[in-house]
Amino acid sequence: MQGTILIIDGVSTNRIMLKVQLSAAWYHVVQADRLAQIRPLIRRSRPDLIISAMDLPDGNVTDLRRLLASDPALSHIPIIAVTAQNDRPARLRALQADINDVLSQPIDDLMLQARIRRLLRTRSQLDKLQLDHTPAAALGMAETTTDFVPRPKTRRVALLTQVPATGPVWRSRLQPHLPHKIECYPMRDVHGLMHQPTPDAVILELPHTSDAAGLRLLADLRARGTTRDAIVIAVPNPSNAALAAEALDRGAHDALPQGFCAEELALRLSAHLRRKAVSDHIRDSLRTDLQAAMQDPMTGLYNRRYALPKLGQMARTAAEAGRDFAVMMMDLDHFKQVNDRFGHLSGDAVLIETAHRMRAMLHPSAIVSRVGGEEFLIGLPDAGADLALETADLLCRRINDTPFHVPGARDPIHVTTSIGIAIGPDHRCPVQDMVSAMITRADRALYMAKTAGRNQATLSHKAA
Ligand code: GH3
Ligand code: MG
Ligand code: MG
Repeated sequence: MQGTILIIDGVSTNRIMLKVQLSAAWYHVVQADRLAQIRPLIRRSRPDLIISAMDLPDGNVTDLRRLLASDPALSHIPIIAVTAQNDRPARLRALQADINDVLSQPIDDLMLQARIRRLLRTRSQLDKLQLDHTPAAALGMAETTTDFVPRPKTRRVALLTQVPATGPVWRSRLQPHLPHKIECYPMRDVHGLMHQPTPDAVILELPHTSDAAGLRLLADLRARGTTRDAIVIAVPNPSNAALAAEALDRGAHDALPQGFCAEELALRLSAHLRRKAVSDHIRDSLRTDLQAAMQDPMTGLYNRRYALPKLGQMARTAAEAGRDFAVMMMDLDHFKQVNDRFGHLSGDAVLIETAHRMRAMLHPSAIVSRVGGEEFLIGLPDAGADLALETADLLCRRINDTPFHVPGARDPIHVTTSIGIAIGPDHRCPVQDMVSAMITRADRALYMAKTAGRNQATLSHKAA
């Protein structure tokens, strides 16, 4: 079964006709004739989509949207409204009321199926994003999506038309309805469109005469890096339901089967841009949460939670390839005195600059992490004793040779560091325990470096 669709219509013949169309496409269909008692029915049947008549015996589709919006568990269910034939004002009213899509009687089967597929696809992408987002939200790391209201923002809209003269005509009719910057491009020359800054939306004219080329261009826009994230709305010109349906299946976010209508296009485009702002926000906060989960916020280095499994991977790779690798523990010397003499902010500045010097010096393949106040854990792939010692000595010098500028001292201050090194793989140890055993050895070597006078690196011997 492809999904469950709820039909709400007071006229039983409408319901029956629609049910026949939907069942033929293997959807599970649930029916209702009015809004009363609709909420328990929705909760029970969990529809993926609702198709509702504009007007119902006890309300209309706007009341249905309001009813769903008041319940967080139901507010994301998309709604398609069905209007009477040629009732343009009703279509616009529905779009204004944030109904996801509108179809007119008699319902064109191709268009109906393509719209349903498009909405279900978008819905499952959003569900997946929210599902991925849930652990972070549960940890209190991010606000929930329903809290987010996108700020109005001027967007770039590109109008792509076959006949160059059509672009400015469409633009002058669209502009009064949209606060966005609209730019015209002839379809023969999309070069300018592919360059930065990329458009937020593309309106693509699909002329009947060159529908194959238009559909190819649509697929291209959806695939290319520069336009992949843009909303694409196809406008068959003249009206053509089959072409609009084809465009939806080829990846267009929306299509106007009735051809160009400035008000309808503006309403549909605004709704898509609003929804895109919400999904972009979810994606962004997911990225931020992931970063927070692996990074030490002050220095930007990896944290212990991220570094340990990475070191485990490094150990496995080294054991399999029969190559050496090094684990180093580095600890700043007498760091407490920096805080005591120059203040905590100065201590922070030293930690930040230390991290910066480490990152700048070490190879990008090194794992560099902050695992305690002034303690750093480093993993060096392909490093035997000589290379590891040489690298650690160089690190000591990078800290010691150049004094640190800190907010609490007039003159730059001198800082030193000590480092303990362990070389692996240690074949006496099962690979899953190897990293913790090497950290213990590196820690012991660090203690030896401290007791030997600090500002130096010490190698742990495998037998130690
Ligand atoms: P040693 O040479 O033996 O390592 O001496 P030490 O003073 O560096 O070591 P100790 O463990 O006595 O002191 C570490 C200090 O680091 C104590 C703590 O206040 C400070 N510290 C820990 N985290 C931070 C931080 O995030 N910022 C600042 N400014 N200080 C921190
Ligand atoms: Mg310490
Ligand atoms: Mg210390």
